[in-house]
Amino acid sequence: MKITLTGTGTSQGIPVIGCGCEVCTSDDWKDKRLRTAAFIQDGNTNIAIDAGPDFRQQMLAVGADHLDALILTHEHNDHIAGLDDIRPFNFLQRKPIKVFSLARVANDLRSRFAYIFSPTPYPGAPSIDLIEILPQQRLQVGPVEILPFSVFHGAMEILSFRVGAMAYITDANRIPPASENALVGVETLIINALHHRVHHSHFNLQQAIEQVEMRKIPRALFTHISHQMGRHQQVNAELPEGMELGYDGLTITI
Ligand SMILES: [Zn+2]
Ligand SMILES: [Zn+2]
Ligand SMILES: [Zn+2]
Repeated sequence: MKITLTGTGTSQGIPVIGCGCEVCTSDDWKDKRLRTAAFIQDGNTNIAIDAGPDFRQQMLAVGADHLDALILTHEHNDHIAGLDDIRPFNFLQRKPIKVFSLARVANDLRSRFAYIFSPTPYPGAPSIDLIEILPQQRLQVGPVEILPFSVFHGAMEILSFRVGAMAYITDANRIPPASENALVGVETLIINALHHRVHHSHFNLQQAIEQVEMRKIPRALFTHISHQMGRHQQVNAELPEGMELGYDGLTITI
């Protein structure tokens, strides 16, 4: 199974519009970050995690020619704004695309994308089979078994996903004890690390490192990175053994 970090930037992406900082003006392609998302491939099964404003570019980058499921962590704009770009998959596959989310997120989608869920949709509008899921309720997409589990993004309860020996946690600053089962035996943890200061709804780099160390997880990739993190090359070089800053296009095999 292959997992690609199709985006590793926080909500504004990097470079940030109008910013002249050393990260936003860097020539290093690893300092250019689309909005955070990931793509899972197992044989012929393709699963996208989140569909932010860069979804189109991200699907082009991984060369996706079909999509078996889109699984959503939460309803913030940087994770759902690209939902309309699911249309090419509708045209290719000639069927609705399965989208899995919490009920709260599904309700939010129904109001923000009312035209998609209209009883009389405009011809060519996205066609979505919206499936509500619960934390700790396993779901199966082709050969891929996914365990959704709860994490907290400030006061908001959102989903993370365990797939094989990998867990994907974005937009969190707290992992509740009830989700600990989902992290047992994880060999690769993909986890958000915003920048260096304390934030109300994201782990910062030090906190993310602690989450990895306290569970003795052998490998960690950090994502949802702000331009305030610093240059990729510099920050990455200072991380503990087994930990690295994610970058767009980073692919791991599990
Ligand atoms: Zn900047
Ligand atoms: Zn968020
Ligand atoms: Zn986010």
